[in-house]
Amino acid sequence: MNYNKKTVKDIDVKGKKVLLRCDFNVPMAKDGSGVITDDKRIRAALPTIQYLLEQGAAVIACSHMGKPKGEVKPELSLKPVAKRLSELLGQEVIMAQDVVGPDAQAKAKALQPGQIMLLENTRFEPGETKNDPALAKAMADMAQVYVSDAFGAVHRAHASTAGVADYLPAVSGFLIQKELEVIGGALANPKRPLVAILGGSKVSSKIGVINNLLEIADTIIIGGGMAYTFSAAEGGKVGNSLLEEDWMDYSKEMVQKAKDKGVKLLLPVDTVCGDKFAPDANIQVVKAGEIPDGWEGLDIGPETVKLYCDAVADAGTVIWNGPMGVFEFPAFAKGTEAVAEALSKTNAITIIGGGDSAAAVQQLGYADKMTHISTGGGASLEFMEGKELPGVACLLDA
Ligand code: ADP
Ligand code: MG
Repeated sequence: MNYNKKTVKDIDVKGKKVLLRCDFNVPMAKDGSGVITDDKRIRAALPTIQYLLEQGAAVIACSHMGKPKGEVKPELSLKPVAKRLSELLGQEVIMAQDVVGPDAQAKAKALQPGQIMLLENTRFEPGETKNDPALAKAMADMAQVYVSDAFGAVHRAHASTAGVADYLPAVSGFLIQKELEVIGGALANPKRPLVAILGGSKVSSKIGVINNLLEIADTIIIGGGMAYTFSAAEGGKVGNSLLEEDWMDYSKEMVQKAKDKGVKLLLPVDTVCGDKFAPDANIQVVKAGEIPDGWEGLDIGPETVKLYCDAVADAGTVIWNGPMGVFEFPAFAKGTEAVAEALSKTNAITIIGGGDSAAAVQQLGYADKMTHISTGGGASLEFMEGKELPGVACLLDA
């Protein structure tokens, strides 16, 4: 995939209407009060928005939120986002009542250079996730330029993330540009050794990335829930730990492929187990593959911590996706914390992908020690998998 793409700096936006795809899919309070519990994603969009406004563009921002499945769900309205964005920008954000309906059309038509409006949740339109050309064209017709800055959504070919680029000159905003530079650079031309660390609980959606990483990484470190599929495939006892039986053969293949290619594939040698999935579980440390019945592996053990910290110490680049254990429970956070600390001490380029990994690094106090914390979990993973990202492929080549 070519990820050398034109950016907002390569296109004239003065006096033009710019359709800007943002990732405003922010977490909201569960009580329906419309309170945004973390506005990081809105803040992350500010540099591109401010640049466009300063250049004299009229900005028509859009985003999805949640999964309304093509229906108008008031609790998934972007109105709270418009309010927060307006506070952060210090200027009015005109809120449209629909996505491409009469209200959005009229407001877009009246929008002046230096003004910003926000369309309603793009997924209120059934055509959004189907990448319906009619919806894409209706969105595109409101503007003259398309800027994509929603890295968290570039792995999806939806009307607002890819379809619109069929009708408008399409470039990236600063957020996507940085993601492409840092992650793309690490994958295509890494400072070596390149170490990839994989963990977390979404095993079936992550384990597939190993195949591609074996082509580019020097070392692959496995922690979190994924480790038990490897362990079980070698005949280990994993108790009640996370296990993906369908991936056991694959994991064996990956161990063999790593050997053939001379890539170091590191698996846990010991495990911190709990007798239940809870913060107050009873704990014991056992050798990998010796988890007793009724117990489950919830963190990497102390010997594994040493092994993994040594493996990153002299890395040139580290890509980390997925916590080593259930870091939300202090008793099972030690593995994740030790790895985060080890990364903070290396001179390596350190890249964190994955929402929970980013949260872990933040919570444990190492966020500002990392080179880059990606704004797209699924997108960064598909990037590492070597898949084409539709929301990037559709942008103009530089
Ligand atoms: P990310 O969001 O970084 O991509 P995931 O969503 O795949 O990561 O997984 C994050 C979750 O994985 C965390 O909530 C953590 O508690 C959980 N986790 C890590 N190790 C284990 C384990 N051994 N068993 C169960 N859950 C785990
Ligand atoms: Mg997650």
